[in-house]
Amino acid sequence: MRNELDIKVKDTLAQDIQKGVPILLKDGFNEMNSFEEGSILKLRNPSGKFIGKGYVGKQNKGVGWILTKNENETIDTSFFQKKIATAIKHREDYFHDADTTAFRVFNGEGDGIGGLTIDYFDGFYLLSWYSEGIYSFKEMILEALEESVSYKGIYEKKRFDTKGQYVEDDDFVKGERGEFPLIVKENGQNFAIYLNDGAMVGVFLDQRDVRKKIRDTYSAGKTVLNTFSYTGAFSVFAAAGGSKKTTSVDLAKRSLSKTTEQFEVNGIDVEKQDIIVMDVFDYFKYAKRKELSFDVVILDPPSFARSKKYTFSSAKDYTNLLKDAIAITEKNGVIVASTNNATFGMKKFQSFVEKAFKETNRKYTIEEEFSLPSDFKTSPLFKEGNYLKVLFVRAK
Ligand code: SAH
Repeated sequence: MRNELDIKVKDTLAQDIQKGVPILLKDGFNEMNSFEEGSILKLRNPSGKFIGKGYVGKQNKGVGWILTKNENETIDTSFFQKKIATAIKHREDYFHDADTTAFRVFNGEGDGIGGLTIDYFDGFYLLSWYSEGIYSFKEMILEALEESVSYKGIYEKKRFDTKGQYVEDDDFVKGERGEFPLIVKENGQNFAIYLNDGAMVGVFLDQRDVRKKIRDTYSAGKTVLNTFSYTGAFSVFAAAGGSKKTTSVDLAKRSLSKTTEQFEVNGIDVEKQDIIVMDVFDYFKYAKRKELSFDVVILDPPSFARSKKYTFSSAKDYTNLLKDAIAITEKNGVIVASTNNATFGMKKFQSFVEKAFKETNRKYTIEEEFSLPSDFKTSPLFKEGNYLKVLFVRAK
């Protein structure tokens, strides 16, 4: 068992914790710098009353997370085991679904431990550590996981260098090494996954419901433009749904081979698809010049992106991105607008859509609205954790 440090916090933080806020923000402390990563803090309000136990783990968002509000609960292997077992129970349907073999098993503060996520990829588990503090519990957490599940192998991503970035490593932890690509299933489609090759594994699991909707309802007979396409996951689902053609645009050179591979593992003829390595903002200009237009345009930019020529911030520039998209969307076409920016909510995102259509003199209706799927469990009092917003907008 780790030592617990008794500490009084400011009243604002004490009140937040009592309401159920899981994050420890720096300004709630009188002094913080002296705490070591991974320290357990026994938090008290200014009058000395116990309010919760948390751990120190510095991330961009805060300096640590609440673990329990029970003074008698110790932070040990059995604590982690209970949290993991509960999380696994919540995903029982996923474990039993033969059509989907990749999903999130543990989603940080949504499952009671901020700073840790665990993803499942067909028998392999991937742990992502978001601070040195949570990483210091690695042995306990591994033991807790091993008590709950059987597995082929365990991999990890350390996402906590000084900039909160991924620490380069081969990422293998224990069990058997995977043979990559590992082919996983999502609603019947295949994805080629690499757990040993950098920060990103090949697919973003949080868009699962959106991909299914695109395949099942919006693709048959349509031309589909997928911008910021990465490995082309949306394109795969559009093609599987019977699209006339998909066009995937991403400026990363690797996107050509990665997208080709995702089509191939799904038995889709790559020759009939376009995969374009280009800056999306240049592509919009090119498409306008060539008078191209699409039935479906998918927008899934990163929150911030800086390319040689352009800087994009979704909080500032999403309206303009939508205007670019509207200009090349067919009458009665659909724009799938997505953002993972946690600094604004759905209302504001809808206001970007409203503004873009107003300024382009076109009418629209919102046909679908998505947020995180059920395996990405969130904490009701930490709304930044509920970051995903997706709108299917019909452009009249
Ligand atoms: N939509 C993808 C995930 C996008 S990740 C999916 O569903 O899997 C963000 C991608 O945007 C990265 O692959 C990055 O290379 C690309 N990107 C960032 N800025 C870009 C730009 N200006 N033009 C084209 N691609 C860009």
